[in-house]
Amino acid sequence: MVTLHNLGFPRIGAQRELKFALERYWQGKDSATQLQTTAAGLRQQNWALQAALDWVPVGDFSLYDQVLDLSFALGNLPERARGFHGEKLDNYFRVARGRSAPGGAAADARANTNTNTNTNTNTNTNTNTDTNANANANANANATDGHGACCSGIAAGEMTKWLDTNYHYIVPEFGADTRFALDASVLLAQLQEAKAQGVKAKPVLIGPVTYLAIGKAKDGGDKLALLEALLPVYAELLDTLAAQGVEWVQIDEPILATELAADWQHAFNVAYHQLKSCKIKILLATYFGALEENTYLAAHLPVAGLHVDALAAGAGTGLAGLINLLPEHKVLSLGVINGRNIWKTDLNATLDWLEPLAARLKDRLWLAPTCSLLHVPVDLAQEQQLDAEVKNWLAFAVQKLAELQVLGAALSQGRAAVHAQLAANAAALASRRASPRVHQLAVQAAQADVTADMEKRRSPHAQRSAVQAAHLQLPAYPTTTIGSFPQTPEIRQARSQFKKGELSAPAYLGAMRAEIARSVREQEALGLDVLVHGEAERNDMVEYFGEQLDGYAFSQYGWVQSYGSRCVKPPILFGDISRRHQGKQAMTVDWAVYAQSLTSKPMKGMLTGPVTMLNWSFVRDDQPRSRSCQQLALAIRQEVLDLEAAGLSVIQIDEAALREGLPLRRSQWQTYLDWAVASFRLCANGVQDGTQIHTHMCYSEFNDILPAIAAMDADVITIETSRSDMELLGAFSRFAYPNDMGPGVYDIHSPNIPSTAHMVALMQEAAQHIAPQRLWVNPDCGLKTRQWEEVLPALRNMVAAAQQLRQAELSPIEQAS
Ligand code: GLN
Ligand code: ZN
Repeated sequence: MVTLHNLGFPRIGAQRELKFALERYWQGKDSATQLQTTAAGLRQQNWALQAALDWVPVGDFSLYDQVLDLSFALGNLPERARGFHGEKLDNYFRVARGRSAPGGAAADARANTNTNTNTNTNTNTNTNTDTNANANANANANATDGHGACCSGIAAGEMTKWLDTNYHYIVPEFGADTRFALDASVLLAQLQEAKAQGVKAKPVLIGPVTYLAIGKAKDGGDKLALLEALLPVYAELLDTLAAQGVEWVQIDEPILATELAADWQHAFNVAYHQLKSCKIKILLATYFGALEENTYLAAHLPVAGLHVDALAAGAGTGLAGLINLLPEHKVLSLGVINGRNIWKTDLNATLDWLEPLAARLKDRLWLAPTCSLLHVPVDLAQEQQLDAEVKNWLAFAVQKLAELQVLGAALSQGRAAVHAQLAANAAALASRRASPRVHQLAVQAAQADVTADMEKRRSPHAQRSAVQAAHLQLPAYPTTTIGSFPQTPEIRQARSQFKKGELSAPAYLGAMRAEIARSVREQEALGLDVLVHGEAERNDMVEYFGEQLDGYAFSQYGWVQSYGSRCVKPPILFGDISRRHQGKQAMTVDWAVYAQSLTSKPMKGMLTGPVTMLNWSFVRDDQPRSRSCQQLALAIRQEVLDLEAAGLSVIQIDEAALREGLPLRRSQWQTYLDWAVASFRLCANGVQDGTQIHTHMCYSEFNDILPAIAAMDADVITIETSRSDMELLGAFSRFAYPNDMGPGVYDIHSPNIPSTAHMVALMQEAAQHIAPQRLWVNPDCGLKTRQWEEVLPALRNMVAAAQQLRQAELSPIEQAS
């Protein structure tokens, strides 16, 4: 008999109930009891949905973040959160979200920048998000909460991406003074609830080695030195669970799927040898990739069972090595259903390779999704508007668990027992394979015709930059913005009325044009040099384009938690990609032409790049990501050429998410960068020398990918730098980055208005690294989450900064003084 289990279930709720409950609580509208009641209801519901499994995860639920929960359980609170006398729950949210000192919003700018302290996050700028604007969620964090209003300000915990997912966790903080002390109350309470519900509970924990690995040593010290102090607390926790009658505990160590230095490998041995004396069976869970060189290590750790991502391992044959190595007494849990994507599993094909393994492993075989289902939406059954054909190809969390049961039944009772389900699955897959909506011959032909020449500009940067200078007539230190201007309540309202059919198409067009005209007017008054139209018509930088591309579908409720109460709804890239309309009717041309008609200054056409489209979507599993990326690139290339033909001589192609596509294993980085950069080049480089291509990236960590960035060959790159005092430009200068760049001088994640002097100082610092003639002056990112009242004075100061810099160039003596 095969054992079925699950590693984790989405906790946000099928209708984002948790999100709304949290926000009501933070706003002081709901009591802690009301919040806890909603949370308990969700747990109950989630467990009921998993009731048919042999083991059900407990402890995968979290009010904000499971890593932060663990930090609290281990007693590892950042110093600033210790000695808090209010409610534990409020302290938890203080660490999660930060809060201002009473009356001191400015004192606490970092709390507001919660999402951005790690530059890898897409959360603040990609509002491919819940209807509640992120500006809102963050403002709440910064304002005086309705709860726990007793104390001084506190900075939010730093947030970063959970391995290679788009889920963000609160980074554990370590220091020389770090002590651990167990507080298992939250987990034990959930265990009690589960028992009361008759759930076959398997508590879930992040393991000690991964916990240390994903944390940050604030003093730069050695995190591994803490292992010795940490292990007794884990042991105490395991013993506590055992005393509660727990048989199995799932301990997640996903870093086993990454490249580990020798001391970290050793830490695994130390940790699990010490924990093996606990009277509980440990299922060591690895996911997000194959074990590869860590296979031997993982197979021989003294635990009762090992979970691996069977799909990453290469299914049947790929698992042979591990199975041969695995001691005979150990359970092997195979992740056979993709926990990161939304496609139906090919159940028959899975059984084909699984059946022989099941015959060999017998009772030792467990089956599960590859990883926690946290990374997929909850329930496909809710989707009422999704195209029926596409819907039939999909499986969300609830459907994935149903697939698991079909596999389990087929293995235990034979395929005949689930004949109908297998036949329906096969039919759905066949329809997907044959659908003309998935396979467009014209797109495939265009891909076959791609040549290396198409990825190359006609002339090198220096040469085309002269052509551009002659034509654009820009001053030194030209000023520009990253694209979006504030998305006001009026804009949001017009969009939602238009969607509901309450506002006619001409009325909507008029409203958006009025916003564009406003943006242009303001920019002219400010004296900016290269203008933008402001992106009023865009809900989101990926969705806006996806909606105009064949091959994309959109769900209504396909929400996935990004962090805390924030969710994203990634579009579904299901088929070959092509633009629905061409020429003047293309995706952005009309808006751009209208904007250009209002000004004699250069107007920047604004597009989202292929890599970012790909990385922020659910993507096809029936062809390599690189192939989907190239299709996106071809479609955007046509848009670039249409914009150029329509008279736009500056075009920005945003690649906000290029870095986040980097694989977990460094050894795979170059392959990714090669095709990602090739896609960017394909989309951008078909233009004439006189057309200036910009790209924008929402981070500043380029040290390890600079050759790839340079290979993109954009004429101008704008990046995030204002908070790091330009230090990171050192890498650009050492590399001798050849093209122009705009290091952001205005931190758009903060409500603070940067002073002219501050921005001048930042640019002077930048000029130490990059020749001044190649520098642009611009904010860190788009301004859509800000208010006009903040944006105008900030940009006024920014333009004044550029003017001072130009003056200083003319009279260097002044600069020296
Ligand atoms: N052009 C987009 C904007 O200004 C870029 C957003 C981003 O980089 N995430 O909003
Ligand atoms: Zn950005």
